[in-house]
Amino acid sequence: MYLKSLTLRGFKSFASTTTLRFEPGITCVVGPNGSGKSNIVDALAWVMGEQGAKSLRGGKMEDVIFAGTASRPPLGRAEVVVTIDNSDGALPIEYSEVTLSRIMFRNGGSEYAINGRPCRLLDIQELLSDSGIGREMHVIVGQGQLEEVLHATPEERRGFIEEAAGVLKHRKRKEKALRK
Ligand code: ATP
Ligand code: MG
Repeated sequence: MYLKSLTLRGFKSFASTTTLRFEPGITCVVGPNGSGKSNIVDALAWVMGEQGAKSLRGGKMEDVIFAGTASRPPLGRAEVVVTIDNSDGALPIEYSEVTLSRIMFRNGGSEYAINGRPCRLLDIQELLSDSGIGREMHVIVGQGQLEEVLHATPEERRGFIEEAAGVLKHRKRKEKALRK
């Protein structure tokens, strides 16, 4: 499994449609400060189901929508599409290529799709949660996050391990069921 491409449309500083293509292996993104490198990582987290505005380095979810510049008016929607190579079947779905998309409108509405078929956010989160790229996003190591892991409480550390082992989803479901 590897990322094949990422398309941003109205997401943060990427007002125009921008597509990045990746090969298997390591990809480095280089550029001056403020040029949008971290925004690319935010887009990846967002399309994979991230729901925390803070994790996306914003104050509110709407902050992912292009807010305009001196020469360009704000946009009404943000869209990100990611294509994942699944020829090794790491994702539990019968496709060798999986496309996930997420759209958010300024009025708060959202749309999600898997391979072009409309779905719920939960469907995307569940599809990914068994593959080691779940919604807790421990595959994205942000600045200062390494320190967070080193200083984690035993409880938090258990969470990291449970997510890696793919049991977090089941524990969350169990907790939800017990609350009812
Ligand atoms: P550094 O090297 O400093 O980490 P970077 O390349 O990671 O920089 P980013 O943090 O990705 O830079 O991009 C920051 C830029 O994105 C800022 O100029 C900011 O104004 C712009 N930006 C963030 N959100 C939006 C938005 N909603 N609309 C328009 N521009 C945005
Ligand atoms: Mg950055």
